[in-house]
Amino acid sequence: MSLLDSFKDPHLCQAVLERIHAELHGELRFMEVCGTHTVSIFRSGVRSLLPENVVHLSGPGCPVCVTHDSEVALFLELAGKNAIIATFGDLMRVPGPEKRTLKTAQAEGARVRIVYSPFEAIKLAQDNPNDKVVFLGVGFETTAPAIAATLKTAREEGVHNFSVLSFHKLVPPALHALAADPELQVQAFLLPGHVSAIIGVEPYRFLAQQHGIPAVVAGFEPLDILQALHLFVTMRNKGQAEVINAYTRVVADAGNTKAMAMLNEVFMPADALWRGIGLIPGSGLVLRPEYAAHDAMQVFDLTLRDVPQIKGCQCGDVLKGKISPDQCVLFGKACTPAAPVGPCMVSTEGSCAAYFKYRV
Ligand code: SF4
Repeated sequence: MSLLDSFKDPHLCQAVLERIHAELHGELRFMEVCGTHTVSIFRSGVRSLLPENVVHLSGPGCPVCVTHDSEVALFLELAGKNAIIATFGDLMRVPGPEKRTLKTAQAEGARVRIVYSPFEAIKLAQDNPNDKVVFLGVGFETTAPAIAATLKTAREEGVHNFSVLSFHKLVPPALHALAADPELQVQAFLLPGHVSAIIGVEPYRFLAQQHGIPAVVAGFEPLDILQALHLFVTMRNKGQAEVINAYTRVVADAGNTKAMAMLNEVFMPADALWRGIGLIPGSGLVLRPEYAAHDAMQVFDLTLRDVPQIKGCQCGDVLKGKISPDQCVLFGKACTPAAPVGPCMVSTEGSCAAYFKYRV
C-alpha cells in the first residue's frame, strides 16, 4: 500500500471513527474553510459517518464563492470596456447584477478569454499590443504568489498593456471574524492544507491564544480529516486548545518562504469585502504603489459600488456556516449545478454544488 493509499484505507478510517464515537462527549461544531475539504468531506462519505453530535459547518473556503457581488459587478463593468479580460474558467458563470455573467458578456461580444495560468495572460498582452489585457485575480494565499510572479515579469519585461484586478483574499483575518462571531459558536477549525503550504502555521496561532479554539492543518484524504477530528476530541478532553500541523507531508510549519516573499514584494494587505461576511479589515491584497501601472483599478479608474444581492440566494449564510445548503429554499429546485442561481452552486468547490452532488 502506498503512503497516499493508506490515507484512504477504510480499516484505518473505521478505527479512528470508532475512537471519535467513543471519546466525544457533547457537541463538536467544527468548520472547514477550504473548498477542497468541502468536496472531500462530502465525496468520501465522511460527513455521513460522523456521530450526530459532530456538526460540520462549511465556511468561506471557495474563492469564487467569497468574491463579493460588488467585485463581480466590477468584472462585468470591465468586460464592457475596451479591454481583453483574461480569467480562470471558474469565474465565467458566477452571476452578478441582473444575473449577468462573464459568459453572458462574452456572448454579447466582450473579449473574455479563459486562461490556465496567469502567465498566459501576459502572452495574450504581448500578442495584442494595441489592447489592454486584464487578468481577474481572485483566490487566497495559494494563488496570489503566482499572480505576483506574473506582475513582476510584466514589470521587468515592460509589458505595459497588462494589468491585474486584484480581489485576492487572506484566510487568517476571515478566521478571526468567524471565531469572534457569537452567532456561529465554532468550536474547532479544520485549516486549509493548500493555503497553509504557503503561509505555514504561525498565522493561525491566534485562534488558540486569543479565542481558545483548537485548529488543525489537515490534508484532504478521509483519514486526514478523521484524524484532525480526533485531535479536536483529544484536545477537548484534555481541556487544551492548540494549533496543530497534521499535514506535515506537505506543510512546513514555516510555510513556503519564497512564495510569501514574492507575494509580499508585489502585494500589500488591504480591507476587503467577503460575500456573506462583509468588510474584513486587512483581509485582501492590493498591488503595491510600485505596481500602479499594472493595477487595473487605477488603469481603468474603477470604483467598487453597492449592488443588490442575488435575489433569493442565501450563499452568504451558507458561507458563514449559518445554514446548510439544503436550507436555502432554492436549493435543488430553482438552483442546481446546471442552472445555478448563486456562486456556491456554480463552483465545483462550492458548498451547494458539493451538497447537491454528494448529498446524503
Ligand atoms: S442553493 Fe443556490 S441560491 Fe441557494 S444559497 Fe446555494 S447557490 Fe445560493
